[in-house]
Amino acid sequence: DTLINQIAAGEVVERPASVVKELVENALDAGAHRVDIDLEEGGVRLIRIRDDGGGIAAGELPLAVSRHATSKIASLDDLEAVATLGFRGEALPSIASVSRFTMSSRRDDDAHGASLQVDGGNLGEVAPKPHPRGTTVEVRDLFYNVPARRKFLRAERTELGHIEEWLRSLALARPDVELRVSHNGKPSRRYKGDGQLFSGERLGETLGEEFAKHALRIEHEAAGLRLHGWIAQPVYSRASADQQYLYVNGRSIRDRSVAHAVKQAYADVLFHGRQPAYVLFLELDPTRVDVNVHPAKHEVRFRDARLVHDFVYRTLHDALAETRA
Ligand code: ADP
Ligand code: MG
Repeated sequence: DTLINQIAAGEVVERPASVVKELVENALDAGAHRVDIDLEEGGVRLIRIRDDGGGIAAGELPLAVSRHATSKIASLDDLEAVATLGFRGEALPSIASVSRFTMSSRRDDDAHGASLQVDGGNLGEVAPKPHPRGTTVEVRDLFYNVPARRKFLRAERTELGHIEEWLRSLALARPDVELRVSHNGKPSRRYKGDGQLFSGERLGETLGEEFAKHALRIEHEAAGLRLHGWIAQPVYSRASADQQYLYVNGRSIRDRSVAHAVKQAYADVLFHGRQPAYVLFLELDPTRVDVNVHPAKHEVRFRDARLVHDFVYRTLHDALAETRA
């Protein structure tokens, strides 16, 4: 089973940033309002994620690190309309198969916390351990037992950069959650959870005050599709596509067709050549979009891609045109 998990890890766990993503998403699925992320050496030496979510029962710890043990999907029907970020139940076993892994937790009702270690896929025993309500997952020495993968890790700065970029995209979508990051023992980022979903304050915190100042608010709904967020005015246009964030039903994704629609609207109304900066959230009925395309879930498939494209194009085209009128 360790081998199968390590093979799965090849798809889910590419680098420290993918571990951070899976663990923080688990924390959010558990209802966390605050997540602390401690890193050492770009996450290669240590990734420690502590959350204040609902926690997990001592008896369920071994299950959580076992393959296809997800508490989030009960049937194939659920797969159609999955609302949580995780649902495959392969992140923890994959990560635990290629690291020194510890999961500690306590639920509100439990008198004591508990902890479970997994070393390169070898399960230890569940042991009592004091823990505040919530969960801490520690991942040490990523890929220590898979030299072929370790070889592909980049410099500390680069790996840290990937982690911070992913956290930025998360912070934009979840301004209600407080995120604190430390690297090599020093606080490196803090996103205050102001509880104000989409207040715009996070824009400044994440992408800078200049973006926030020139951001045009988007909010439009039609035919069961809703687009909201911000696109920057032309004075803030960019030479590169570095500040383009798209979310579908809260998930950060890449989609060529939607990206094209945004760029085309921008170019048609304003001018050509420069890149728009944007943070856009597309919401639609979960049955109209398939998120189960790729294990890392960076991509989705729309049932009606043309309709989505045209809706995004039209919405942004009209909003931008209005600022010119
Ligand atoms: P998935 O998220 O796809 O269900 P994972 O392997 O990421 O699979 O996690 C397995 C299970 O472990 C989850 O379904 C959940 O029940 C439990 N779990 C993982 N992380 C946490 C956490 N931070 N708090 C509470 N439960 C968790
Ligand atoms: Mg998960």
